Amino acid sequence: MTRIIAIANQKGGVGKTTTAVNLAAALAEEKHRVLLIDFDPQGNATMASGVDKRSAKPNGCEVLLDEAPIERAIVTTEGGFDLMPGNGDLTAAELKLMDALARESRLKEQIAKLGDRYETVLIDCPPTLHLLTINALTAAHGVLIPVQCEYFALEGLTSLLDTIKAVRMRLNPQLEVEGLLRTMYDVRNNLGNEVSLQLTKQFGDKVLRSIIPRNIRLAEAPSHGKPINLYDRESRGAVAYLSLAGEMLRRHPAAAAATH
Ligand code: ATP
Ligand code: MG
Repeated sequence: MTRIIAIANQKGGVGKTTTAVNLAAALAEEKHRVLLIDFDPQGNATMASGVDKRSAKPNGCEVLLDEAPIERAIVTTEGGFDLMPGNGDLTAAELKLMDALARESRLKEQIAKLGDRYETVLIDCPPTLHLLTINALTAAHGVLIPVQCEYFALEGLTSLLDTIKAVRMRLNPQLEVEGLLRTMYDVRNNLGNEVSLQLTKQFGDKVLRSIIPRNIRLAEAPSHGKPINLYDRESRGAVAYLSLAGEMLRRHPAAAAATH
């Protein structure tokens, strides 16, 4: 069975894309068949995977509008995972979809066409709670929420959780919170510990054990179009994303078993 995970937080710059790309690569390293969907018009996940967003055609836009079959939009990447690229065209698709029937479940329908081709599908969401993100949440089994370990980290989490609740009630009863992932954690900064404590108090075991440290190599890798395990596999960032992949596979043993 394919497990679909949306990586979402409408707060910008919290590490959604970094997590999407590097988790995809870490899972691929575990021989997992992974599709990464870049669902953000910024196209950052596409570029960070080593694919030029300007020439990526067809991409998520045509797929959403039913103008191209999803298989044709998918490309392979050097990181060992497949990618459905995204770029500014997604904004146009989002607008055009406004008047369409079943506009919230377009992505779900398209992913279903892939059958069992992938064990995991990761969706990198834009920093909004609009139709693209709603499509991702409607398609997903779980939502992975990166939380930056800094001041105001918890701000906005309530509206994200409310949106998840609303989608669960109206569109996708199976949707669950996969976990909250602490990102950009700095051991020298007490704030990180404070945010961490607060998160655990409020969300208990929904807070994932793996913690992503603030690591310059993670910030550098996208400009080389490489996931961290290909850019600097000894870095703390690479180790952290491998640990996250292991934790996610342990949480869903059925998905893990499928790879062996
Ligand atoms: P947006 O909301 O714009 O889509 P995002 O949530 O996808 O942003 P990223 O693009 O992953 O966030 O990260 C924001 C910036 O922080 C990027 O420049 C990225 O390289 C950097 N960054 C992300 N995670 C880390 C980390 N653990 N250590 C250091 N830098 C990081
Ligand atoms: Mg992003």
